[in-house]
Amino acid sequence: STDINKLADEYLRLAYHGLRAKDKSFNADLVTDFDSTLPKINVLTQEIGRVLLNLFTNAFYATHQRQKESDKGYKSIVSVKTAVKDKGVEITVKDNGSGIPDIIKDKIMQPFFTTKPSGEGTGLGLSLSYDIVVKGHGGTIAIDSRENDYTIFTILLPIG
Ligand code: ADP
Ligand code: MG
Repeated sequence: STDINKLADEYLRLAYHGLRAKDKSFNADLVTDFDSTLPKINVLTQEIGRVLLNLFTNAFYATHQRQKESDKGYKSIVSVKTAVKDKGVEITVKDNGSGIPDIIKDKIMQPFFTTKPSGEGTGLGLSLSYDIVVKGHGGTIAIDSRENDYTIFTILLPIG
């Protein structure tokens, strides 16, 4: 069984250092709120790891985009929270980055849809995440976002 707090913590750092390796000027505040009572759950650890890594990478990328366009008063913040829900374990990823424009909201889960330049994104992260979380684990993915403000992805993984 899998300790989601540990997995999230590892991949959050990996995603952050991955972006910093490409651009030393990038920095962000990492805020974590891990529920210490979270039960270990039966999931495919590697697959859920890939889902988390993509969510975190997307979040840092979005704040990096906004950082490049903003004045010096802007500070990147990526927050990750875990919580126990009656139906399962919930992971919430919030960033204060570029946000998702309304006109592309219904396209982002499609395979190969990306707004990133070639070489930086394949557009497969979220479609793969849908397959893993929803089809593979019977979970859900919820998205809330406002352009130039924030994006929140909430993943619910059933216990069992
Ligand atoms: P990729 O990261 O390779 O572009 P994804 O499937 O992970 O592919 O994401 C698809 C698109 O969804 C991104 O190119 C971006 O336009 C949008 N997106 C995903 N996450 C975020 C986020 N946190 N903030 C803003 N846009 C996002
Ligand atoms: Mg991605």
